[in-house]
Amino acid sequence: MSNDLNPSTQHKHKIIVANWKMNGSEALIKEFSKFQQPKTNDIIICPPFTLLAPAKILLPDFIKLGAQNCSGEGSGAFTGEISASMLQESGVSHVIIGHSERRSLYKETNSIILKKVEAVLKSELTPVVCIGETLSEKKASKTLQVLEKQIDASIAKVNAQTRLIVAYEPIWAIGTGLIPNEDEIRKTHLHIKEKLNQYFNSDIPTLYGGSASAENCSKITSIENVDGLLVGGASLKKHDFEIICNC
Ligand code: PEP
Repeated sequence: MSNDLNPSTQHKHKIIVANWKMNGSEALIKEFSKFQQPKTNDIIICPPFTLLAPAKILLPDFIKLGAQNCSGEGSGAFTGEISASMLQESGVSHVIIGHSERRSLYKETNSIILKKVEAVLKSELTPVVCIGETLSEKKASKTLQVLEKQIDASIAKVNAQTRLIVAYEPIWAIGTGLIPNEDEIRKTHLHIKEKLNQYFNSDIPTLYGGSASAENCSKITSIENVDGLLVGGASLKKHDFEIICNC
């Protein structure tokens, strides 16, 4: 879908991804079954694995389904893991890969992430690959360097003609209420796009994530080269998320 966007449509049509993390319930899915269709934007909700089946049944068709992680392996003796093809069979179209919580809490390295991205692409799903710097890396003015390294090691090696979404999530902005200023977001997104353009022929949609809210979403999505949002906390509140999806 979205990598077909050309520069003239990019800024009108946004991609909004909800990361519910380890939150939600069937009751919340029921609440979201009455979600109002946004005018133009693409909406992808990524609930926990166990809510994918009720979400497939109850959520309106205009909402696409995503997962928050998957195995880099195809099948076999990997207790507790879920493969990309299993997700594909469950009606999932997108998979978040390399979220900073997976990188830090579950020790996912760039090479593990690359393997997962490849597995997702092999199952014809779209990976939403997260990249971002820590606060100390930001303070040491290493943001662009860190992002380049993550792109080189976990994204650049995949087949250049495939579907892909990148989410820039400064780690210090996730769940903190802090966000980079407009100029920082503009410069970082431009740098990411330039870097991705070295490897890919088509425009790779680049989302911003980190404390996006009903209050700040319009401002963030109006920044050049921001093609949408990856939303955590605010995506659990139906009313707020409806506002965000209409930004
Ligand atoms: C996230 O975890 O991907 C995220 C963006 O969280 P929040 O919106 O709560 O900062």
